Amino acid sequence: LQEANIKLRRLASTDPLTGVANRRRFTEAMEETVAAAKEAGSMISLVMLDIDHFKKVNDTWGHAVGDDVLKDVTKRLESNIRPQDLVGRLGGEEFAILLPDTNETVGKIVAERLRAAMERHPSRTSGGPVPFTASFGGVSVAYDSDDAKPDRLLAIADEGLYKSKNEGRNRVTWSS
Ligand code: GH3
Ligand code: MG
Ligand code: MG
Repeated sequence: LQEANIKLRRLASTDPLTGVANRRRFTEAMEETVAAAKEAGSMISLVMLDIDHFKKVNDTWGHAVGDDVLKDVTKRLESNIRPQDLVGRLGGEEFAILLPDTNETVGKIVAERLRAAMERHPSRTSGGPVPFTASFGGVSVAYDSDDAKPDRLLAIADEGLYKSKNEGRNRVTWSS
C-alpha cells in the first residue's frame, strides 16, 4: 500500500508527456535544495528556456509532431546536465533546470551548452526532421541570499528569458 502511495505521488508530480518533474515538484525541489545547502558562500543556479516560435511547429507539422519535439527537448536537456541537476516542465514549451552548487561562470556555460544542443540538429519526429531553437534566461544566487526562493529565482530567470526573446531569440541572458 505504501509503495502504491509513493507511485501515485510520483505520478502526480510528473509531467505525463516528457516524464520530467512538473512545476509543482520542480519548485518543491528548489525549496528543498536551498534549505539543505550548508556550505557558506556556495551558489545555486537556475536556467529557464522557452522554445522559439513553437506555435509555428504545431501549425506546420501538427500537434503530435510538436509533442515529439517536446520529448526530444527533454532528452537533450537531460543528456547535457549532471545527475544532481533537475529538469522541470513549467508548462507548455517552457522548461527549467535547477543546478545546485553552481556559480555564475559554470551556470552560463551550462546554459550555452543547452542552447547549442537545441540548435545543433533538427528533431527527428514522426513527421520528419524539425529544426528549432530556444531562448534562455538564467540566474545565480548565494544560497543564503534573499533571492534564493523559488518564486524569486523563476521571476529573475524569466526576465532574462524575455530579454532573450526580444533581442532575437536563440540566446542566453544571464542575470546576477
Ligand atoms: P515565442 O518564440 O515567442 O516563444 O513563440 P511561441 O510560438 O513559441 O510562443 P506561443 O506562446 O505563442 O506559443 C506556444 C505554443 O506552444 C502554443 C501551444 O499550442 C503550444 N503548446 C503548449 N503546450 C503544448 C503541448 O503539450 N504540445 C504541443 N504540441 N504544443 C504545445
Ligand atoms: Mg512559452
Ligand atoms: Mg515559445
